[in-house]
Amino acid sequence: MDLSFTPEEEAFREEVRAFFRDKLPARLSTLVREGKRLRKSDMEEWHAILNERGWLANHWPEQWGGPGWSVIQRFIFDNESALAHAPRVVPFGVNMLGPVLIKYGSEEQKKQWLPRILDGSDWWCQGYSEPGAGSDLAGLKTTAVRKGDVYVVNGQKTWTTLGQHADMIFCLVRTDPTAKKQEGISFLLIDMKSPGIEVRPITLIDGEQEVNEVFFTDVEVPVANLVGEENMGWTYAKYLLTYERTNIAGVGFSIASFERLKEVAQMQKKGGRALADDPLFAARMARVEIDLANMQTTNLRVLAAVAGGGAPGAESSMLKIKGTEIRQEITSLTRRAYGSYAAPYIPEALEAGWNGEDVGPEDAAMAAPSYFNNRKLSIFGGSNEIQKNIISKAILGL
Ligand SMILES: Cc1cc2nc3c(=O)[nH]c(=O)nc-3n(C[C@H](O)[C@H](O)[C@H](O)COP(=O)(O)OP(=O)(O)OC[C@H]3O[C@@H](n4cnc5c(N)ncnc54)[C@H](O)[C@@H]3O)c2cc1C
Repeated sequence: MDLSFTPEEEAFREEVRAFFRDKLPARLSTLVREGKRLRKSDMEEWHAILNERGWLANHWPEQWGGPGWSVIQRFIFDNESALAHAPRVVPFGVNMLGPVLIKYGSEEQKKQWLPRILDGSDWWCQGYSEPGAGSDLAGLKTTAVRKGDVYVVNGQKTWTTLGQHADMIFCLVRTDPTAKKQEGISFLLIDMKSPGIEVRPITLIDGEQEVNEVFFTDVEVPVANLVGEENMGWTYAKYLLTYERTNIAGVGFSIASFERLKEVAQMQKKGGRALADDPLFAARMARVEIDLANMQTTNLRVLAAVAGGGAPGAESSMLKIKGTEIRQEITSLTRRAYGSYAAPYIPEALEAGWNGEDVGPEDAAMAAPSYFNNRKLSIFGGSNEIQKNIISKAILGL
């Protein structure tokens, strides 16, 4: 197994770097580097730039607007994107729904929805989780009852990320309450402007409104918005989750934030010397660096297997666990490195152009919110405990 990049792949890396140099607006990379709040318009602006180059949906087939990249090219692109402090692509349309429609949607659905994901006409959100149906997702209770040409949907979704911006939501709904729980689920595309939908914000521990509750009362959804077959939604849901988990690992993000941590640890002093030279702190940093190097190799190993015709299975769970543990440890160490400067958590400091009193190094005000916000990583996309169950089952053959 050869894990080094070929000359062609190195040339591709240069092409990607040049693109970020020329096309990534400095305003956006500064917001990302400083951990500031990105608005809907910022994310849309970056999507449009990527789409113009044909690089937005970089894992879609060329027929539907993808660039035809190999898995290794995608890995290079994602890493370079993080190192350039580019905004992350909002995953719900491009990374989650897109692959499901391409594999399971009808031709009409592909023609209707895929171009609208690319050109930003529709902002999608994910309606999987419900109160009482997170880890036990197949226990979901939102119902869809067919009446003529429509399904009538009743129930509630929760933790709906960025649902406050969404035009559309893809939902798992129960269409057969009498079937075994995994077998009575369908995958529906629902217009967020439909009468009977109410979105209520949930405020997170960092004070941000990133997630929502979405309530459905007698919402009518055209039958044409059913993806694939009725009661087969669980198959499509699982397919989507493998994509979601591999994306959450975020190796490039960890590399970029670890570089920043090293700078901060050099800058901050403890007992008259750089924090980076403090044996206890240095040991924790070394642990992260080793884990990150291992993680990169594992990621490449999985990609090499995929390039050779294999499919990621439990490996996506492994990447999700390790990747998120590393990201959380980096934000924890960064907060510690800033010490008391990270203590006054000022929500306004997340706004672009915030010009508050200078109480410490440039991005110290972001260390606490970033630490708090990143606790979510081990919960969403299927909690890390659930990923360990998946790995155990794969090993024990259960
Ligand atoms: C910030 C954030 C954004 C999210 N965005 C979305 C979104 O956009 N769309 C969406 O549909 N969902 C979203 N989610 C929901 C997410 O997928 C769920 O929170 C997650 O699946 C866990 O479910 P739960 O919250 O119901 O916790 P529970 O399932 O109640 O779990 C509680 C605890 O028990 C543990 N546990 C449960 N069952 C087992 C078991 N069998 N073995 C071992 N441990 C177990 C879990 O690991 C966890 O620690 C988001 C969540 C967060 C925090």
